[in-house]
Amino acid sequence: MNAPQRRPSSDPLLNPPPDQPDGDPVADESSTKNSSSEGGGAALEGVSAVAPQHAAALLAELKREMNRLQREIRLAIQAQLGRMAGQSLGSIEANRELARSIQEMLDAHGLRVRCTHCGNPAILRVSPRSGAAAGVFVFDHTIDGRRTFHGGRIQMPEIRLVAKPARKPRGEKKAG
Ligand SMILES: [Zn+2]
Repeated sequence: MNAPQRRPSSDPLLNPPPDQPDGDPVADESSTKNSSSEGGGAALEGVSAVAPQHAAALLAELKREMNRLQREIRLAIQAQLGRMAGQSLGSIEANRELARSIQEMLDAHGLRVRCTHCGNPAILRVSPRSGAAAGVFVFDHTIDGRRTFHGGRIQMPEIRLVAKPARKPRGEKKAG
């Protein structure tokens, strides 16, 4: 829990980060640039106020719209990836590159592939395996806190996309 804060002056050569407030607790009376000195409430009069329930409705509508778009994206990606099921690019480098590209795209949209063995959200990877010159496709996921690989076929598996889990128990490590 004790995440070390960024130390302010660990390197004197660096400029202090802009979000670091100048440590001057005393308000400088001379530089009082209070533009809203007419009174805080008066500033709102020119602005059309949005009722909270109206804002909530707008946000709910936006959320529905986003979900719809997200679903369209998911189905579009899934349709294209579905064409590659059962195939192999013939070399482990090419298969790895394919898996990496897929993963990059999915990650950008908060998606994962669904493991065909256990159904959990997973990352598609290509692992070397003796006897499989172009490697094997595996589902990389964490099950019961343990990194687990399922699959292991030489062809690209059937791809079903699922939402990325909201929280990961541990920092995800890039591997392979
Ligand atoms: Zn699995």
